[in-house]
Amino acid sequence: MPVRDMAIIGAGYVGLVAGACYAELGNRVVCVDSDEEKIARLRRGEVPIYEPDLPQLIARNAEAGRLAFAAAAGPAVEKADIVVIAVGTPPLPSGEADLRSIEKTAREIGASMNGYKIVCIKSTVPVGTAEKVERWIAERYAGGFDVVSLPEFLREGSAVADALRPDRIVIGTSSERAAAELAALHEPLAAPLCVTDARSAEMTKYASNAFLATKITFINEIANLCEKVGADVAEVARGMGLDRRIGSSFLRAGIGYGGSCFPKDTNALVQLAGSVEYDFRLLKAVIEVNREQRLVVVDKLQNALGSLRGRRIGIWGLSFKPNTDDVREAPALAIAERLAELGAELRLYDPAAQRRFREVFDHPFAVWCESALEAARGSDALCLLTEWPAFADIPLAEIRAALDRPLLIDGRNLFDPREARLAGLEYVPVGRPVPE
Ligand code: NAD
Repeated sequence: MPVRDMAIIGAGYVGLVAGACYAELGNRVVCVDSDEEKIARLRRGEVPIYEPDLPQLIARNAEAGRLAFAAAAGPAVEKADIVVIAVGTPPLPSGEADLRSIEKTAREIGASMNGYKIVCIKSTVPVGTAEKVERWIAERYAGGFDVVSLPEFLREGSAVADALRPDRIVIGTSSERAAAELAALHEPLAAPLCVTDARSAEMTKYASNAFLATKITFINEIANLCEKVGADVAEVARGMGLDRRIGSSFLRAGIGYGGSCFPKDTNALVQLAGSVEYDFRLLKAVIEVNREQRLVVVDKLQNALGSLRGRRIGIWGLSFKPNTDDVREAPALAIAERLAELGAELRLYDPAAQRRFREVFDHPFAVWCESALEAARGSDALCLLTEWPAFADIPLAEIRAALDRPLLIDGRNLFDPREARLAGLEYVPVGRPVPE
C-alpha cells in the first residue's frame, strides 16, 4: 500500500480525528494548527478535546512516527501529497458561514505549493467554495493541483469509530486523477464511495445535516402533540422506526438538537438558499421549532413550581450530547440562561463539559458540583439535559433521596416513567405519559 505524506490544516474535532485516522491507515501525517498552545499540548501528549478512543489512537501513531504536530503550515504543505483543510467555518451574525479561515489557509497553501498536490476541503462550506479555494491557491501558484470537496460526516462522541467505519465517503471533483488517488486513500475503510462534482458534494453535507435536524425536530413536534393527546412518543418512534423507509435513528424526542454543526449548517443553508432567491420555508420552520423546543424544560418547571425565583434547580448534563465536552449551541446553555433570568439558583454537573460550559456561562447563582448527586442534593427540581449513560446508572431511589422536592424533568427521556414513579419521583418526560 502506498504511504502518503499528508498535511491536515486545523487540529480541532475534525482535523485531529481525521489526522489520527489517516495515520492509522499507514500514512505520514502532520496536523497543523495556528493555535500554538494547542500544538504544544499535543506535542506533550495531551489531547485537548474529550473524544472516546482518540488519545490512544494519537499516542499509538505519534509513537510510531506517523503523526506529528506543527504550528506552521508551510513545511508540512511542502512535503505533502495530500493537504486537508479542516479549519472552522463558524457562523457570521447573518447565519452565513465565515470563510475567512478557509481563505487564509488556502492562501498559505498556495504560498507553499511546490508541485502537484490534492487539496481536500473537509470543513463544511457553502456550495461554490471549492472553486474559490482553487482561485485563492492559483493566485500564488501557477502549477497543477486539484481541489476536492471531501465533506466530513463524523459525529462528536463517536468520531473515531465514525471516521474508521464511515457509511460513505463523498469525493467531489471533476479530476479523474484526484478521484482515483482519494479512492485509493480511503480503500482500507471499505466504505461506499460517492464520486461526484464539487458542488454536489458540498450540498450533500448541508443536505444531510439539514435532513437529520428536520427528523429530530419532526419527532419533537410529534412528542409535543403526544402530550396533548395522551400518546407515548417512545412507542410512536419505535413503531415508525421499524419502517425501513424511515429508520429508527434520530427519532428520539427531547429538548432539541444543538452542537457545532446542526444549528450552524441549517442556518448557513437557509442563507445559501436566500442568496439565490430561494425561500427554504421547511428549514426555517425547523430552526424556529428547535429553538423553542429547548425551553419546554422551563415550561415544565414553571408548570410544577410556579415562580422559579429563588428555586434551586439541579442540572445534569451541559454538553450538547453525551460523550463530548463540546458545549457549542448546547440546549443546556439556552436553558441555564433562561433559568438564571427567572431568578433560579443552578446546581450544575457534567462528567466532561463543566470547564467548557463555565467559559460561556458564569453566573453568580451557579454552583458547580463535583458529582451528579451533589447537583441533585437539596434542589427543588432536577433537569436532565444530556443523556450521559452514567446518569442512567444512578439508582432512582438515590435521586429521590437527594432532592428536596422529588421533581425530575427528563429532557432526554432517559428514564422509564413507570420506574421513576415507583421510586417516588414526580417524573416529567417529553411526550410520554406517566402512570398515576
Ligand atoms: P474546531 O473549532 O474544533 O477546530 C478548528 C481548528 O482550526 C481550531 O483548532 C483552530 O485553531 C484551527 N484554525 C483556524 N484557522 C486556522 C488556520 N488559518 N490555520 C491553522 N489552523 C486554523 O472545529 P471542528 O469542529 O473541527 O470543525 C471544523 C470544520 O469541520 C467546520 O467546518 C465544521 O463545520 C466541520 N465539521 C465538524 C464536525 C464536528 O462534529 N465537529 C463534523 C463534520 C464537519
